[in-house]
Amino acid sequence: MTHNPSLPRVGFIGLGIMGQHMAAHLLAAGHPLAVYNRSPDKAAALVAKGAVACATPAQVAQQSDVIITMVGYPSDVEEVWLGGQGIIAHAQKALLIDMTTSSPALAKRLAVACAQAGHQALDAPVSGGDVGARDAKLSIMVGGDASAFDKALPILQRMGTNIVHMGGAGAGQHTKMSNQIVIASTIMGVCEGLAYAKGAGLDAEALLRCIGGGAAGGFQLNVMGSRIAKGDFAPGFFIEHFLKDLGIALAEAEQMGLDLPGATLARKLYNDMAAKGSSRLGTQALFQLYVTGV
Ligand code: NAP
Repeated sequence: MTHNPSLPRVGFIGLGIMGQHMAAHLLAAGHPLAVYNRSPDKAAALVAKGAVACATPAQVAQQSDVIITMVGYPSDVEEVWLGGQGIIAHAQKALLIDMTTSSPALAKRLAVACAQAGHQALDAPVSGGDVGARDAKLSIMVGGDASAFDKALPILQRMGTNIVHMGGAGAGQHTKMSNQIVIASTIMGVCEGLAYAKGAGLDAEALLRCIGGGAAGGFQLNVMGSRIAKGDFAPGFFIEHFLKDLGIALAEAEQMGLDLPGATLARKLYNDMAAKGSSRLGTQALFQLYVTGV
């Protein structure tokens, strides 16, 4: 891949299901790209296409104008941003963007730490799943200063098609929590509907062709429902990550004095699945709970 030296140098940390595709789009667009992942083997495909492999987040920070993180949990974000080998300590007046689904409170804390260190910061979590990451069609919800958003926009446009500046630091993560609350009840509905159809002896593929184009249609029914119909329970989105998100969302809701019965039930059902060893399956595996109780 040929680099375009007039484009900002990008660093990308976290090359899992989502990050590997998102980073590949930036490389394909011509950005010089430095990468780091906890398990180094996940960097190999990008390095083969011209990315520079780094041994620490610090090394990524030292050679990047814009640094993007797409790791797993808020604790991973804290380590990569605030740790001794972290990007805040080692970047040089850079734009730091966290695209992990993480907590709004942490996003605010990171924005303050960045301002003190002379960096700009954005929280920019995404929606659209592994398919959206692969096809560069993510929805990206952004919190932070308008000037940082304007600077980030051309880069975010390489990974997504629906990019909205939602407000100050933490507003991106709050938006993502709202998204996850919608998904929590939706995926339960999809699994219930498909379990009912199975009980009635209907063909699942035909069912999806029929109701997927009607008022029930949407990503959870059409994409996750189709995986369920094929018996494909591999992770596009890990159950353990959804439990992380529901934990953050329900804690935030509690602080607002809000009761969210749908999200609360989804957390219980997914906790049941995790207790039975299914936390590394995809969220569509909830269907198994409805049909077999596993
Ligand atoms: P994933 O496959 O687990 O990817 C996360 C990657 O980050 C892993 O490769 C992991 O390394 C790496 N990582 C974790 N901690 C690290 C650290 N301290 N330093 C360096 N690398 C670190 O998960 P994912 O599905 O891509 O999801 C990433 C984030 O996006 C999560 O917060 C998730 O909730 C969110 N999200 C996911 C989806 C989806 O559909 N998958 C959609 C929207 C948002 P290892 O390889 O060593 O584990």
